[in-house]
Amino acid sequence: MKVVLLFIALMAVSIGFPQNSDITTNLHETYEKYKEPSLNKRRIKHHELLPLLVKYADNKAFTVKKVGESIEGRALNLISIGSGKTTVLLWSQMHGNEPTATQSIFDILNFLASDDFQEEKKEILESLTIHFLPMLNPDGAERFQRRNLLGVDINRDAVRLQSPESITLKNVRDSLNADFGFNLHDQSSYYNAERTEKPATISYLAPAFNYEKSISEKRGNAMKIIVFMNNIIQKYAPGQVGRYNDDFEPRAFGDNIQKWGTSTILIESGGYANDVEKQEIRKLNYVSILSAIYTIAKENYKNIPIEEYEKIPENDRKLFDLKIVNATYTLMEKEYVLDLGVNRLEVDKEGNNDFWYSSRIIDQGDLSTYYGYETFDASGYTIKQGKVFPKVVLSIDQFNELDILDLLKQGYTYVRVANIPYEMLESPLPMQIIGKSYKLRDIQLKVGINPTFLLLKHGEPKYAVINGFLIDLTTGNGDFKNAMIYR
Ligand SMILES: [Zn+2]
Repeated sequence: MKVVLLFIALMAVSIGFPQNSDITTNLHETYEKYKEPSLNKRRIKHHELLPLLVKYADNKAFTVKKVGESIEGRALNLISIGSGKTTVLLWSQMHGNEPTATQSIFDILNFLASDDFQEEKKEILESLTIHFLPMLNPDGAERFQRRNLLGVDINRDAVRLQSPESITLKNVRDSLNADFGFNLHDQSSYYNAERTEKPATISYLAPAFNYEKSISEKRGNAMKIIVFMNNIIQKYAPGQVGRYNDDFEPRAFGDNIQKWGTSTILIESGGYANDVEKQEIRKLNYVSILSAIYTIAKENYKNIPIEEYEKIPENDRKLFDLKIVNATYTLMEKEYVLDLGVNRLEVDKEGNNDFWYSSRIIDQGDLSTYYGYETFDASGYTIKQGKVFPKVVLSIDQFNELDILDLLKQGYTYVRVANIPYEMLESPLPMQIIGKSYKLRDIQLKVGINPTFLLLKHGEPKYAVINGFLIDLTTGNGDFKNAMIYR
């Protein structure tokens, strides 16, 4: 019997891929049990992490240590668990508006603190000591901005070390001399896997440590772990993985931490259709990072062929929120056919806890090499600017009582409202609001403008695009969030 088992084990090794798929499936299926419920949207703040840190400080399996402070004095904490000789360090959110993996870290901590998966956790914690440094840039997170309070991109400060957050990361890395490092970021949702319409939901990089892009054993190990994680993501989000360009960036942390001797894995959480708050991506991070930790503990990543790394498609940036193709557009009485690429850009509200959308035309012309989360074939449809509703509406309450769909069908895309409350930033209905004396000009379609127009067939409005949201005027259907207010 033993011989047979050994044979099976050898077979698994010779195929080259660790057979950890059982734990991965279990992690995926049981995720909701460990998901940290207090961190349920992207704009998370440092103060929301503090009660969670207290919980782990009180748990004797963990140690929580303050390892530094942000410029504004927010504590940077290192949470550690395990007693193994292999050291793994994970840090997240050095860019303040990149919170997805911070949430995943607290899900992973909940998993590690639970009484479940005893056998696997014993294997992990006897082989590894794992350190988490979540939200490295809390001042940036407070403002939901990439840079820290010094206005510096921490990821270009690994050598000059002017920011206290950078110094903290460097000190922690050096004091642990970590074997493995997970450098956790978010990327734009407009990235796709090269030459496909699939968003790069997760992108990876084993950063280079020199201009020659040499592959040392350490960097090779990072590549192997990436191949392992890619296989997991492919199972749940097929085709939705990209690989970052590995040009050496001498100022970046990933590149330098690789150089300083830690096998470094960059993970970027990108976009996923209908997942604005990136909670599905958070789950994919949880499953793939925990599985990677398990494979590092078992050391069964070692036989993964490095060549598989190069087979992951490269990252590209060719996605729009809305792509309209083959629309007819009239300019100086002549007709042209245009594709339009539209993105719905987020504008933060005061306090950076919430946002509204202000959309833009990003590109127009032949966009056949681009893709859309939503694509509309406008063949046979003509773009036309909407009209201003002739009656001035006195208040927002009156505005809310209008039959908006009917107005859109009649060709109106603007309503004048006499009294717009000062604090109101967005129109709640698919109709642009303009102030009493706002002068609306004829709009020429061009890059940079707010996409608001009608799509006509046989002279009749059939679809409306209002602030970049496409609305079917026959059914009223459309994934609408907000329109604009021009005072
Ligand atoms: Zn980043």
